[in-house]
Amino acid sequence: MGSAPLYPDRPRREQLLDLLFPPLCVGCRRVGRWICDRCWPHVEWLDPADRTRRRAGSPLESITAVTNFTGSAREAVHALKYEGHHAISGLMGRLMAEAVSDTDAIVVHAALHRSRRRERGYDQSAMLADVIASAGRLRRDNALLRTRRTEQQASLDRDRRADNVRGAFMARQDLTGKTIILVDDVSTTGATLEAAAEALRAAGAARVRGLVFARAT
Ligand SMILES: [Zn+2]
Repeated sequence: MGSAPLYPDRPRREQLLDLLFPPLCVGCRRVGRWICDRCWPHVEWLDPADRTRRRAGSPLESITAVTNFTGSAREAVHALKYEGHHAISGLMGRLMAEAVSDTDAIVVHAALHRSRRRERGYDQSAMLADVIASAGRLRRDNALLRTRRTEQQASLDRDRRADNVRGAFMARQDLTGKTIILVDDVSTTGATLEAAAEALRAAGAARVRGLVFARAT
């Protein structure tokens, strides 16, 4: 656990939206910020040196996270994923963008299946990927298709997660020689990112680096 990053600056458009629809702190429900000044230092932010974990013998080179999946960080993911608070993707995505050092990578999200996206009304990892690409001035591509509906990983034990998502993704385009930043909200076993990376590598990607907001341990 490391020192807290600075609260990232918000673009003017978001500042105006904040005036109309003030954010509520996901930790304590105080009005003003998505994670307030009091809750911010208690988030288990990861030190830059501890953010990235290598994955040996995997189509996925590494997984980088900015925080552990606990406390207010967990609440932030739930607010985005299950409570429809789309605007929090701005905060989360800008923190994730700060963890990217590549300048010529393509940002791709681990897409939901279309039936799941229809139910939820949006794809939370697509929103994060949009913010990361824009904040990091990186190319953004919707290069992955989830070809079948999978069970929610959170509902499965660790052993069944890899089976659940294996072969569930397909690349929409040729990615020969490209470096991909593969985005999702949370990583637990890394099974979803791994299955997505498999499809990206099959389409020719030279390397795939996972990037998530939170890492569950
Ligand atoms: Zn708070």
